[in-house]
Amino acid sequence: MIDLRSDTVTKPSEGMRAAIASAPVGDDVYGDDPTVNALQDRVAALFGKEAGLFTPTGSLANQLAIKSLVSPGEELLTETQSHIVRAELGAGAVFSGITTRTWSSAHGILQANEPLSIASPDAGPYIVSTTAIAVENTHNFGGGTIQPIEEIALLRTESKALGLKMHLDGARIWNAHVASGITFADYGSHFDTISVCFSKGLGAPVGSMMLASAERISEARRWRKRYGAGMRQIGLLAAAADFAISHNIERLAEDHRRASLIAHACAEISPLLIDPALAPTNIVAIDLRCTDSTASQLVAELKELGVLAGAMGSHLLRFVTHMDFDDQQLEKVLEVVPALLKRVLVS
Ligand SMILES: *Cc1c(COP(=O)(O)O)cnc(C)c1O
Repeated sequence: MIDLRSDTVTKPSEGMRAAIASAPVGDDVYGDDPTVNALQDRVAALFGKEAGLFTPTGSLANQLAIKSLVSPGEELLTETQSHIVRAELGAGAVFSGITTRTWSSAHGILQANEPLSIASPDAGPYIVSTTAIAVENTHNFGGGTIQPIEEIALLRTESKALGLKMHLDGARIWNAHVASGITFADYGSHFDTISVCFSKGLGAPVGSMMLASAERISEARRWRKRYGAGMRQIGLLAAAADFAISHNIERLAEDHRRASLIAHACAEISPLLIDPALAPTNIVAIDLRCTDSTASQLVAELKELGVLAGAMGSHLLRFVTHMDFDDQQLEKVLEVVPALLKRVLVS
């Protein structure tokens, strides 16, 4: 079975397992785990931030950042299809008592004027006050799209002038960096808080991190414990993440190359299915509105043919390439997927 449901399905490599096995550990609730401490310093430095905090999930890293930036009764602005509003089960409202308001952009691609035009900072006693804006890069439901750095920079300058903070949901910032060549420090310079994920394209079994000022991280550490995610000998997990940072970033270009070949092969069947320019990283989102099939029907048919894909709503079929997907499997996908799409295309 070829599994392209997500880049989270990867299994730790031999090298990663060896790194886990030999990691020095300690009790992280006491701050005594040398491996996680080193990882937090390493990743914070990479993004030009003072400190980092390891979390079991990206959702928790996002939520700790939101908690840090937005007070109860205030609002966070984010894109309509972002993970924070669609895939974290209302955690911002539940954990932090905040509200969200969304702007919508095609394929999730940021245009600074969109959030700026709905921002209402210091709105007084009648209207909810905006305190922060979240940007997702790459944009998951947008199809792995990359946020233009000029738009991020513009949004930073303009929103800072309004007194607003910015959060980066960088679960796949690794992919954005590899595809765009923009450094992590450059991305980091535009945000107050960042979340990154080690268990997506980088292939670690567990783990994410919040990055911010030392003060915000020290407060987030208390909240992490309060939420029940204080952990003990997590050097075992940090070693996997550290191995992933050392070995698995540049190879993401391979995932992007394979995703692009899938996108091009589908576009050849019909340009209405996908514009390959909108699949710049490791996600291929096929728009099925020009077919007579739903995403779940095609997911079931593809499963019969030995390929697992994802249904994102009724007419979006998603393939995600990753480190456990090789050229031999790609060949089979290029045989099976375009042929199936050709069959269901409404001409
Ligand atoms: C996967 C993902 C997260 C974090 O998800 P967890 O499953 O909680 O680790 C956050 N943001 C985006 C855009 C993601 O794709």
